[in-house]
Order: sequence, then structure tokens, then C-alpha cells
Amino acid sequence: MMVCPNCKHKNMAGAMFCAECGSQLIGNNELVTQNIATDSLNNVGRKPTGALTGSLSGADAWASLHLLDTGQVLPLSSRNEFTMGRISEGQPIMPDIDLSPYQAYAAGVSRLHAVIKKQGVQLIFMDLGSANGTYINGKRLNPNIEHSLNHGDIVALGKLKMQVLVNSS
Ligand SMILES: [Zn+2]
Repeated sequence: MMVCPNCKHKNMAGAMFCAECGSQLIGNNELVTQNIATDSLNNVGRKPTGALTGSLSGADAWASLHLLDTGQVLPLSSRNEFTMGRISEGQPIMPDIDLSPYQAYAAGVSRLHAVIKKQGVQLIFMDLGSANGTYINGKRLNPNIEHSLNHGDIVALGKLKMQVLVNSS
């Protein structure tokens, strides 16, 4: 458990940001052990695909994904549904969010792994039949079944973990 230094909210172990106030949680030593397989070297020099271009400011984002290993933030805006995965050559269907710059291959992310969407005020997360599974707070999801997502949840695509922060404004 991680107690927020700012508002004393008790956050789930592994959280990088407070689910209550958004403060960065410090002293989280568990995250130091990162395994970077040699396969990820193949991605060196690859540029992000630009799928998120135009939404990088995050000002109008309805949610954002905070990658726990790299601290990267992926704001979700300008549309209500994003498929997530990893772009590789010759792939017929491209994911909206390409995670290959974030060690996705080494983490076991499938090409078309999961989808996150907004339905009214609800957030929905669904595994798209990925090889290594999709998790919410450590629980593996059944494929192709919609699960609701809450602010502060930690989701994982294979071993790639990220925290979901919902922008309620
Ligand atoms: Zn807090």
C-alpha cells in the first residue's frame, strides 16, 4: 500500500500517482527491477507513430495512462475509443496506441491487445484475445468481455503496467 504524502489517501501497491489527488507517490522502490529483454533493442531508433499527435497536451483528455516503468503519460482525447497494441511490419489492423516505444515486445504486448473506451461517464476496458493477457489490478480479464475501469486502477498488458487516471472535469 502507498500512502499519499499529499492527501494521505491509501493507494494500491505499485501505484505511481495518487488516485485521489494525482500527486506522484515517492519511495516506490519496487519499481526498480525492470527486465529489458534484448528483443527490445530492435525498437531502438523507431519513432512513435504519431497516432496521438494533436492530443499530446492532454488538456482535453478524458483519461490518461501513466506507464509505471517509464513514467510516460499517454493522454486519451479527441475520440472515445482507443485500441492498444504494438505495430509491427505487415500488420493488417493497426492499434490506435502503439506501445512499441515502451518495451511492449519484451513485455508481451500483442499487436492488437486491448481496447479502452468511454461510454458516457463510464470507462470500459476489454482484452482483444491477447496472448499474454490483460489485467486490472492484477486480475486477468476474460477476453472480449467488457470490464469497467475506475480512476486509479492499475492495468497491465502482458507485463506492461500502467495506471489509469480519469479526468472527471
Ligand atoms: Zn493524494
